[in-house]
Order: sequence, then C-alpha cells, then structure tokens
Amino acid sequence: MGNPTGFKEVERHLPPDRAPAERIGDWQDFHGHAGEEQLRSQASRCMDCGTPFCHTGAGRADTRQTVGCPLNNLVPEWNDLVYRGLWQDALHRLHKTNNFPEFTGKVCPAPCESACVLAINEPAVTIKNTEWSIIERGFDEGWVRAQPPPARTGKRVAVVGSGPAGLACADQLNKVGHTVTVYERADRIGGLLMYGIPNMKLEKHLVDRRVQLMREEGVEFRAGVEVGRDLSGADLRAQNDAVVLCCGATNPRDLPIPGRELDGVHQAVGYLTVNMRWLLDGAHGRPRIDAAGKDVLVIGGGDTGTDCVGTAMRQGCRSLTQIEIVPQFPAALPWPEFGRTSTPDYGQEEAAAAFGADPRRYSVTAQRFIGDAAGRVRKVHLVDVEWNGAPKPVAGSERAVPAGLVLLSMGFLGPESLLLDELRIDRDDRSNAAAEYGRFTTNVEGVFAAGDIRRGASLVVWAIMEGRGAARECDRYLMGSTLLP
Ligand SMILES: Cc1cc2nc3c(=O)[nH]c(=O)nc-3n(C[C@H](O)[C@H](O)[C@H](O)COP(=O)(O)OP(=O)(O)OC[C@H]3O[C@@H](n4cnc5c(N)ncnc54)[C@H](O)[C@@H]3O)c2cc1C
Ligand code: SF4
Repeated sequence: MGNPTGFKEVERHLPPDRAPAERIGDWQDFHGHAGEEQLRSQASRCMDCGTPFCHTGAGRADTRQTVGCPLNNLVPEWNDLVYRGLWQDALHRLHKTNNFPEFTGKVCPAPCESACVLAINEPAVTIKNTEWSIIERGFDEGWVRAQPPPARTGKRVAVVGSGPAGLACADQLNKVGHTVTVYERADRIGGLLMYGIPNMKLEKHLVDRRVQLMREEGVEFRAGVEVGRDLSGADLRAQNDAVVLCCGATNPRDLPIPGRELDGVHQAVGYLTVNMRWLLDGAHGRPRIDAAGKDVLVIGGGDTGTDCVGTAMRQGCRSLTQIEIVPQFPAALPWPEFGRTSTPDYGQEEAAAAFGADPRRYSVTAQRFIGDAAGRVRKVHLVDVEWNGAPKPVAGSERAVPAGLVLLSMGFLGPESLLLDELRIDRDDRSNAAAEYGRFTTNVEGVFAAGDIRRGASLVVWAIMEGRGAARECDRYLMGSTLLP
C-alpha cells in the first residue's frame, strides 16, 4: 500500500464511455481508456485491507452467490504495484490467478467491486479497469509472449468446447506439458466469447489474439467438429488419456405460447450469433435476422436481453421494448452482495437515448404472438402479472403491441444431451453434468466437466475458474499428483 491516504484524497473516476447516440452507429468497444497517471492514482485508492473482500471469492450457501472474485485475483497486490508503476510485476501477479484478464477486464460484472471494502461508504476501487489496463499494457509492451512448456509428458487430453472454461483448462494442461486438443463445433474458437457476447462488449480480435498465443504454445484447435456427431465420444475417450467436457449450458428456455412458430420469433443467442457471424464475415448486405426498421420486443430482462437490445439498436430498429416477468430489481444491493439491480446497462442507455425512455417493463409477460398471412409475426399480446408465489395475469391489462422481431432471452435449461447421453454421464437435479465442485470428475473414469455444463449458465469468470480447477484435477488423475493451482 504505497499511498496510505489515497482513499481519502482521490475520488473514483473512470474514463467516460462513448455517448450512447454515437456508439450505436458502430460495433466497436464503447469504453474509454485512462492514461497512466489516472490509472496509478485510481489504484492508490486501494486500502490493502486486512481482509480483502474483493479477492476472497467466498461462497454463500443460502443464495449460491459469491462475494468477491471467484478467481481470487490478487487485487490489493496489483493495485499497489500499479500505483508504484511496476506494471510488469502487476501483470505477473494477475496471470497467477487469471489466464485471460483481457476477457474478464472487459465483460466481468465485477463482483470484486461490489465487495470492495471501500464500497461500504465510498465508491469502490476501479478494479476491473485496472485489470484491463494491466493486461493491455502487457500485450503492448510485448511482455505477453508464447511460452511453450519445456517438456511434454506424453499424455493426451481432449477438451470439448472452446468457451472460457475449455480455453482455461487447455491453457493450464498445456502449461504442464500435456498434449491438448480442443474440439469446437462452431466454425470459430471462443464459445460464447466469440458467438454470444457482442463485439461492442468484447471485440473478437481479443479472443483471436489469445487463441493464437495458445496455438504457438502448442495447443491444437479443431473447429467445426461436433463431438457426439462428427466424432463419437467413445472414440474420443479411447484416443485420449483424459477428456474434459466444457460444452456450456446451451439449451435455451423456450416460450411455447400460440404463434411461437411464426417467422420473426427467435432465440436470443441464435440472433446474436447470426449478427456476429455477419460482422466477422465482412458485414456484406444485411444479417439474416435483422431488426432494421422493425418494432423489436425482447422477452427477458437479463444480460443476454441487454445484448439483444444493444444489437437491435445498432441494426437500426424502429422501436424497442424489453419485458421481464419478475418485478423490478432493487436499485442497489447491500454491501458486499452482488447481483441484478435496476441500474440501466449499456443497451438500455442506448434505447433511452434514441427513444426517450428506458425500454424495460417489469411484471409483464407475453400471451400470444399474432402473425400476418405470410406467417410473419406482427403483434404480441402482453399482460401484466402480479406475484403471489407465482405470476398471475392481471385482469383487464391485456394489450397488443406491434412487433416485427421478437427475441426470446429467458435463460438456459442446462446442457444439450447428445454427448452426455452417449458417454452416460450422470446429471444433477438441474440436468447439468454431475461433477462435484473442486473435483470436477464425472461418474465416467477419466472424464471431467467444467464451466456452464457443470454449473449451469453463469459467468466468464466462473468458467475460467472451473476450467483451471478441472485442469488441476485432470493433471492429478494423469500424473498422480499436481502442481497446478
Ligand atoms: C449473450 C450472452 C452474453 C453474456 N455476457 C456475459 C458477460 O458480459 N459477462 C460474463 O461474465 N458472462 C456473460 N455471459 C455468460 C458467459 O458467456 C458464460 O457463462 C461462459 O461463456 C460459459 O463458458 P463455458 O466455456 O462453460 O461455455 P461456452 O462459452 O458456452 O462454450 C461452450 C462451447 O462448447 C461448444 N460445444 C458444445 N457441445 C459441443 C460438442 N459436442 N462438440 C464440440 N463443441 C461443443 C459450443 O459450441 C460452445 O462454443 C453471457 C452469456 C450469453 C449467452
Ligand atoms: S477490498 Fe477494495 S480497498 Fe480493500 S484491498 Fe480490495 S480493492 Fe483494495
């Protein structure tokens, strides 16, 4: 703690985001970047707490929530090093706990900041921005370089799925010398980092940059291969000493109401994927699912819904409404809790700037979709609900709203079954792959599971944590002991 009075002298300050009205004109990152002096002064606000809640990642059994960073990032240490201008040392500390700070530094909702002790009575330390600045400095300075392992163990591991869990797992296993192949059914590597999280939140060259580094370190990537279809799970298991399943929780919740089959009603991730592929392929013509000139209804008020709002705004929708069946979230949560609040996210800010009001409506659900003669959705019948344990429609509140594009963003129901069934992997009571947290081993010998496939739909930071943990346990299984954290 280089400056013991920093937290009294310096106010929290983040570089401003680009204005909503301007940024909806492109697909680039909208966050501003701070200069060295500001970054060091912000880092000086850290109090180097005796109990650094930011870094603890302690779980609460009652809410299944975590307080602080699930990766146990060494936040007070790197805050101090940044304050003192020791950026390379800060980078070294950051990489000790986090394989991909450039992803979390961009998209993590920052439970570390919710838990920051300073946040009890002052705005939190700008931890996420500092994390991002350390890793980008590392790339700019050439400090982040391929470091292939000095020797190979002769053991082969297959990782299925190339999202943050699979990438973190592969990175760790490769570091200790195993020969790792990552299988991905999509045409590009990255899981939801590539197709899911939109470009303005995470520019895709950042994902490619890390994947390229891993290639140079010896990890093999096979895109366009669906294990269970193009290659059987049994063959994969037979060809490898161990298999780690990191296939995500890709099974979306549906809304089986009348008119669901109409053209123009889509699952959120399908819509986001089409848009992202269109951008990556050169943005010729228009995307196959297009909000341009349409009244858009987003059903679901979570982060994926927000990404649909941000994408529809950039595609040039005519109007935008976002409905959520549950009542309005609280404006803030008591320290150190972390979770959903009603603070507008980037998408709502953009819709409000363009259309004059926050697009979200709470305690509302859809009853049916109405189409035209060509089978295209034209309207949606909405109704208010009141909550008494379960949602109950409010009589007389039914109304029809125009909608030319409806995006279903109501969460996920766990992993897909094809590969899990073929390998006869046991499931837990929420249909996820059953593998105890910390051990990550399934009921099938030599097969591990990590990330959303084991935990259910979660966060990038948790996927990285689980990928690292599964790599550690896989290494222990292969070698009898492990030095991986
Ligand atoms: C739209 C959206 C936005 C999000 N935004 C954020 C955010 O801002 N911040 C945040 O922290 N979290 C966010 N999340 C959550 C986060 O992306 C996930 O928790 C995380 O990506 C899970 O990582 P994973 O590696 O377990 O799975 P995934 O990222 O889902 O990757 C799994 C991969 O496995 C592949 N796969 C599946 N089955 C097979 C098979 N049989 N053979 C080969 N490949 C297979 C899939 O194609 C996929 O690429 C978001 C999620 C969504 C849907
Ligand atoms: S809780 Fe906040 S002030 Fe305390 S060590 Fe962590 S970042 Fe610094």
